[in-house]
Amino acid sequence: GKRPKPIDLLNNHIKSQKLDSKTSIDTVVHWFRTDLRLGDSAGLFHAVKQLQAAQNKSNKDARLMALYIINEHDFRAHLDSGWKLRFALDALESLRESLRKLNVPLIVRLFEPKEALLSRSSEFATWFKDLCLGLVNKKSSKSGAVLVTANAQYETDELYRDVNIFGHCDSQFHFQVYHDQCTVVPGALTTGKGSQYTVFTPWYKKWVEYLKTNQSGKDAVATFSFDTSKPLNADLEALESCDYVLPEEFVSYLPNEHLDIPPATEQDAHEVLEHFFKSKKVHDYNEKKDILNLDNTSHLSCYITSGLISTRAVVNRGYHENGNSLMHKDIKQNNSVENFAKEVAWRDFYKHIMCNWPYTSMDVAFKFETMDIKWENDPEKFRKWCVGETGLPIVDAIQRKLLYTGYISNRCRMITASFLSKNLLVDWRWGERWFRKHLLDADLASNSGGWGFSSSTGVDCQPYFRVFNMKLQSEKYDPKGAFVREWVPELKDIDNIKILREGISNATKANGYSQPIVDLKDSREKALEAFREAM
Ligand code: FAD
Repeated sequence: GKRPKPIDLLNNHIKSQKLDSKTSIDTVVHWFRTDLRLGDSAGLFHAVKQLQAAQNKSNKDARLMALYIINEHDFRAHLDSGWKLRFALDALESLRESLRKLNVPLIVRLFEPKEALLSRSSEFATWFKDLCLGLVNKKSSKSGAVLVTANAQYETDELYRDVNIFGHCDSQFHFQVYHDQCTVVPGALTTGKGSQYTVFTPWYKKWVEYLKTNQSGKDAVATFSFDTSKPLNADLEALESCDYVLPEEFVSYLPNEHLDIPPATEQDAHEVLEHFFKSKKVHDYNEKKDILNLDNTSHLSCYITSGLISTRAVVNRGYHENGNSLMHKDIKQNNSVENFAKEVAWRDFYKHIMCNWPYTSMDVAFKFETMDIKWENDPEKFRKWCVGETGLPIVDAIQRKLLYTGYISNRCRMITASFLSKNLLVDWRWGERWFRKHLLDADLASNSGGWGFSSSTGVDCQPYFRVFNMKLQSEKYDPKGAFVREWVPELKDIDNIKILREGISNATKANGYSQPIVDLKDSREKALEAFREAM
């Protein structure tokens, strides 16, 4: 028979996770993951609701605790980028402060797996259950059970991890998972035949339609918030025993120099959103989002990825801006606000795809016939791409900006991904991993989705014969070479626009800047050949 998908296994558990009325809850634990906020979190909302029900009904001493687990294996991946580590730790610290105002302790624990495939084995589930049972309020008069809530994560390993934990539930240990990460829950939008769409445009039409029919009050989509003006726990006593100690080793990895990273708090996330709308940048989105030196996009991605803000809040903001519609009443054509919301929908799209085709979260291309492409995989060319020494000014500027700031725009990502996978014929997964290490907003579904799109190996992707022409991309999106001059200091005093777009030829020299490592025309032909052969 057909093997059930991990998302289906999880959904089966979710269906029967409601507590029966006889269960007496002593401690509610919300396990924070990529949802580092208090506002609009489905899991936290239900944790608080059940906590208050327990306090009112059976156990006035029932309390809420917050938990964050540092999975040593995953966290080490952050160490490659000081930017990422700093942002993650700042976000955690600001969450701890917000929770403290509600008298809720944040407990941070380190899980050191014995095996590489950690979270799928029952090793984690057993460790986790013991940890949670240890949090039960020993002073409470009634010895009740512990209820753990969490928001679902859609990567295959994470789905199996949760399914495994469900397998360890008993009368003392209850576990609940909620759908929270997407604006529209994965699986809710299907074709007439009931299957997942593989093309964005018809899927997006359904997405808009779904929001229209399921609209909640004044908002396009319902949110989950609770009253944060009153403490949730009676006192701070529990805080004394909580240990928020990061392993020394992680802290010592933080770079000493000042890093220009975005402030990582829930409040800042909302301010960034407001600024994008109030400054009217959102209204220039269509026209300016691709111009490389303008930074005219929202810069919300690191907040969305770490869960400092929900995409529901972002979509609702667009909805209000457009006169309570995703599409503006006065404009027949797509307007800027709608197009912005449409980009946010791409994030849902890639997550829905990953749930339906779990192999896409496991290093396999959506179009698996492209796994046969004979990549050239020249390590030296790859190294030069990583550090921005390809001799193609636009690519080098992008790669250096990524290394120095942890952020590049969507246009930048498409340009450099096309160059690596097509002109350099390097396996897209090498680039995907490099991005994951360095992007502040690194997210498996969006990143492999974006790489799949640009390298013509993914879902609803560019046709393989579409190879970005670096010269034209520069002409269109960096017409005066301002972006290149900013990020490639060797070229900062160059006025010759041809050099800024195409790099230098043999005859010229520019402060040690070398000529391109590939010829654009030849490498294009070579790429087309390799793709044709595999497909
Ligand atoms: P805006 O243009 O202001 O968009 C608002 C939000 O919509 C973003 O914050 C993001 O959450 C979502 N979004 C926008 N475009 C996309 C898209 N194409 N796909 C999915 N979601 C989108 N996005 C990530 O969040 N993490 C990644 O690791 C990532 N890797 C990428 C790799 C490649 C090769 C490509 C081509 C795209 C990738 N993207 C990724 C998508 C997109 O480039 C970024 O989300 C966007 O550039 C972030 O900047 P912003 O917040 O200013 O975006």
